[in-house]
Amino acid sequence: MRRALCLVDRKDWDAEDFDNLDDFRQEARRGKFVCLACGGKAIFRSAGNARKATFSARHLNGCCLNPQAWTVFRYLQ
Ligand SMILES: [Zn+2]
Repeated sequence: MRRALCLVDRKDWDAEDFDNLDDFRQEARRGKFVCLACGGKAIFRSAGNARKATFSARHLNGCCLNPQAWTVFRYLQ
C-alpha cells in the first residue's frame, strides 16, 4: 500500500516521500509504522529495480485496506 501511519511523529507517510528521506531519519522510524485503517503493523519496502517504494501491512480482520478482505467481499456478492 502507498501510505502508512508513523507512530514516531503521528504522520501519515507516502512511501515515496519516506524513501527520499536520509538514512538517519528512515532508521528512526523503521518498524514504527501501522496501517492507517486498522492499526495493523506495517513495514516499509524501499524502491528497487522497476519497483516503487511501498508499505506492506499485516491487516487486522475486516480492515478495508486488506486486499484479501476485498476478495472475500467480492466472492460474497
Ligand atoms: Zn489495515
